[in-house]
Amino acid sequence: MSSSATLQEHPLNIVGAGLAGALLAVLLARRGFQINLYDRRPDPRTTAAEGGRSINLALAARGIRALERAGVMDDIRPLLIPMRGRMVHDLSGATTLQPYGQREHEVIYSVGRAALNRVLIEAAARHDTVSLHFDQTCLGANLERNVLRFRTAGSTAPAHKPGTTNSPSATHLDEYETPLTPTIATDGAGSAVRVSLTAANHVVTREDWLDHDYKELTIAAHAARNVLDTNALHIWPRGGFMLIALPNTDGSFTATLFLARTGPNSFATLTDATTVAAFFQREFPDALALMPNLTRDFAANPQGQLGTVHLTPWHVGGSVLLLGDAAHAIVPFHGQGMNAAFEDCSVLDSLLDRHTRWEPLFAEFSASRRPNAAAIAAMALENYTEMRDTVLDAGFVRRKAIAMDLERRFPDRFIPRYSMVMFHPEIPYAEALRRGSIQAEILAELDKNRDPRGNTDIALAQQVVAARLDPIQ
Ligand code: FAD
Repeated sequence: MSSSATLQEHPLNIVGAGLAGALLAVLLARRGFQINLYDRRPDPRTTAAEGGRSINLALAARGIRALERAGVMDDIRPLLIPMRGRMVHDLSGATTLQPYGQREHEVIYSVGRAALNRVLIEAAARHDTVSLHFDQTCLGANLERNVLRFRTAGSTAPAHKPGTTNSPSATHLDEYETPLTPTIATDGAGSAVRVSLTAANHVVTREDWLDHDYKELTIAAHAARNVLDTNALHIWPRGGFMLIALPNTDGSFTATLFLARTGPNSFATLTDATTVAAFFQREFPDALALMPNLTRDFAANPQGQLGTVHLTPWHVGGSVLLLGDAAHAIVPFHGQGMNAAFEDCSVLDSLLDRHTRWEPLFAEFSASRRPNAAAIAAMALENYTEMRDTVLDAGFVRRKAIAMDLERRFPDRFIPRYSMVMFHPEIPYAEALRRGSIQAEILAELDKNRDPRGNTDIALAQQVVAARLDPIQ
């Protein structure tokens, strides 16, 4: 099969019906594409959600824009809980709300991963041109033979053979192959497609693992009621580590502990119920009071790893493209992995307006998204330090106030970096990173030159903003 095939000449494989894969299937089905959408999980419309992996997520403007483009926002809106800022909990239990933005609509939304994914899969399933194949684990791609290899979960014979036009050839009882071209791999951070392409030297992958892991825990609904503000992302920064919690629609909160793997304050020291309870009593006493099942959850829930995936290139000719976490997984501290993956989907969809072949489409997609993926990866890493260390710092709070003031005075030139990333999808991530570093210098200079009463020198602000920041396009 030629890799210069026109767009709708063959059915498109999408490997991974997670957040990006399911949204992409909806967007492409709206254009009439024949799609085979595969996932290794059972059908989430008929089975309970898998536990243990970021049960809720922060959805922001970039993600919302893509969901609107796919026409699914009406189904998703009821799942959303607005969060208007970070509620910072200090060691004494005192709380301070740090608003994310300064306009009414500048909020982010907590959304359950499983419910969001289910809505997207239901939306994909409404299109006759989408064939859904669950319990199908992709084992990798073979470019030389132009096939994708799958294993069917729990089967002993190749009775079920996904692939609408192709007759897969069975090798093992439960394994089969299907034509590769064209494939979009959205099989997440551990992508089997990426692993196979890397092993065959078609792409180069670098995975930078953090030396901090995470564990999800539950804050009970009855305990949280009237104690935790539902419309905030709660954070217990402790310098070097932190606990955060996002609200769920049932009144509970999903808490996530981010902590070093080894060392004095680390997962390695939390070996049993006694050490876990003592650690929470010392570091997060107000949260501990809301977690009646802490030690049980801690023992039962997995300890997850965090890292950044750097992949070069993102596509091989017109045969296969990787998208979302499969191409550019990032650490979760800016709450942007899903948002970036959704933005990938809308960018790819918009490129379909002017391409007729996969190879140039994949090439243009990669060229436009790679610098942005690199920028959000860098900002996400920086945000870990901000969340766990600096939010309690007086200088940080002062500079944040100056930034808000500059945005009010010079809205066409100065938008705080966090706001550019979360609320301004028209500003690419790479541009947010570029402007953000100029803005950081401006903020440091204005902070240093405050008058004795702590006021900003407005004349200086006007001068440096005009000189160093071009108007936002
Ligand atoms: P996934 O959602 O991981 O989907 C991959 C799909 O592929 C899954 O359905 C999986 O079953 C399937 N699959 C995997 N392997 C195979 C295989 N071999 N064969 C077939 N199917 C396969 N992002 C945000 O925007 N906001 C947040 O607040 C946020 N918080 C996070 C918190 C944590 C702790 C973590 C770990 C991540 C967080 N993220 C957040 C990032 C977000 O989860 C990811 O960026 C997002 O899920 C990427 O979507 P995806 O579709 O590319 O991958």
